[in-house]
Amino acid sequence: MPAQGVAPARPERRAFIRAPPALNEAPDPKHRQTRIMARILITSAIPYINGIKHLGNLVGSQLPADLYARYARARGHEVMFLCATDEHGTPAELAAAKTGKPVEVYCAEMHQVQADLARGFRLSFDHFGRSSSPQNHRLTQYFAGRLAENGYIQEVTEKQVYSRADNRFLPDRYIEGTCPNCGYDKARGDQCENCTKQLDPTDLINPRSAISGSTDLEVRETKHLYLRQSLMRDELEAWIDSKTDWPVLTTSIAKKWLNDGDGLQDRGITRDLHWGIPVKKGDQDWPGMEGKVFYVWFDAPIEYIAAAAEWAEANGKSEADWRRWWRTDEGAADVRYVQFMGKDNVPFHTLSFPATIMGSRDPWKLVDYIKSFNYLNYDGGQFSTSQGRGVFMDQALAILPADYWRWWLLSHAPESSDSEFTWENFQQAVNKDLADVLGNFVSRVTKFCRSKFGEEVPAGGAWGEREQAVIEELGTRLTAYQAHMEAIEIRKAATELRAIWVAGNEYLQAAAPWAVYKDDPAAAAAIVRFALNLVPFYATLSAPFIPDASATMLEAMKMANADWPTDVTAALERLASGHAFAVPENLFRKISDEERAQWQADFAGQR
Ligand SMILES: [Zn+2]
Repeated sequence: MPAQGVAPARPERRAFIRAPPALNEAPDPKHRQTRIMARILITSAIPYINGIKHLGNLVGSQLPADLYARYARARGHEVMFLCATDEHGTPAELAAAKTGKPVEVYCAEMHQVQADLARGFRLSFDHFGRSSSPQNHRLTQYFAGRLAENGYIQEVTEKQVYSRADNRFLPDRYIEGTCPNCGYDKARGDQCENCTKQLDPTDLINPRSAISGSTDLEVRETKHLYLRQSLMRDELEAWIDSKTDWPVLTTSIAKKWLNDGDGLQDRGITRDLHWGIPVKKGDQDWPGMEGKVFYVWFDAPIEYIAAAAEWAEANGKSEADWRRWWRTDEGAADVRYVQFMGKDNVPFHTLSFPATIMGSRDPWKLVDYIKSFNYLNYDGGQFSTSQGRGVFMDQALAILPADYWRWWLLSHAPESSDSEFTWENFQQAVNKDLADVLGNFVSRVTKFCRSKFGEEVPAGGAWGEREQAVIEELGTRLTAYQAHMEAIEIRKAATELRAIWVAGNEYLQAAAPWAVYKDDPAAAAAIVRFALNLVPFYATLSAPFIPDASATMLEAMKMANADWPTDVTAALERLASGHAFAVPENLFRKISDEERAQWQADFAGQR
């Protein structure tokens, strides 16, 4: 509800998500002034370090976060978009051991691989950090210290399996043995994969280390720290209840964890491992916790904050520069914080991480909006990292440019339910939406203009009813597109954008300047001028989805930049007659049936 005369900062900021200003109303200077710039902090769930992510991971967090960040920047908002690699824990240690490299070296290399792939997909992070950074060490130890001071940490002595051969305690899932329920001989200490029975490591018959296979195991006492989430249950529930605009998927998962069974449980935040953030109380040693590290789930979300500190260091900024995004007492009170994640990550982001922040009793920024996703399935089954099933980020970029994948993934984002990648569907979306509709439109109008008028916008003629009708349709669709983008309704936004492309294509087909030209060159010139002006208009609106094609379109039209259109008529008069352009290379190529069949076969088996 932005244009009401009264314009306090807060409702306007909320309007960015729910009720965008009606930008196609008659220009009103007062109205324009009420659309103040917002500050938007965006984080994507941080990918784990041990391997390359598949397209299902990509569309479940990083890619939609990038879409939103690009859109918010294009609308003139100040954006801080952060992501990182999640580097601690046993899986990283084991993956490093397999390659024969020290875990620090392995993580540094894999971080670089993931950072390069993120660049390949044009993910526009302001910083792509590492949870193993010194900044995250300091902040994680700081939060633990604050939580202890405030009574939210409990020290618990428990019994855990120790492997003498491996010289380490074994997490439950790294103990294997025979299932007492079904007799399966590779049951894990936490669960039998065969019969799904939940297990305790001591239930297993003939237990052995999954790391070395050694059966030289014993139960030893060890001390661990627990975050007393149960003490914050009511506070967390009140906070979640206050988030009336959150997607049902997000709140229903949070409520389930708050209320099911015995309710929200306290959680261990330390582990007997070598690789991780040493347990300290702020900068002080923690007696009895020597040689232990924080559990990866505890330090990983704190990396969202640390990534901003890393950003500051990497860019010669001050402490104050990053803290104004995260401390409500140091400038973050007007920040809107939006998180993106798959549904499996929702409990940590609605309960555990907020409990860490609330329990610190410091004014750190809590999340304002959580956009969560269902799963993307692959060709009749599931993507699987362990089985190498599906298309992984490196493989995708090896066969087609990023825009092809970005368009398909975002226009099929698993928002209200799981969605499925099939090669037929991918081929169809690329060939129809990108090649036939958008690519063909740009190619046709620029080539026709070159052949009849040369490579500059032609003069002559005037727009009539047909153009006015297109302007009206585009105005309505632009308003809808913006509303969907601001509400982060990604599939709806993609549908609207496609319709905006179709409108231009249909206009050109119906106006048929190639037929008009013979009898009335001036009328043909007016049609071509109108259609050429649609190219930068499309480039600007499409940039959040397909940034490379958008840049190619702007470059071809010789436009250094193109502001977001606030008025369709004005936007379609930007290229005046005489403005030079170049015919761009084909924006998108089609996928042949042979290629589709080949890829389908190539990706059917093991990676
Ligand atoms: Zn079993």
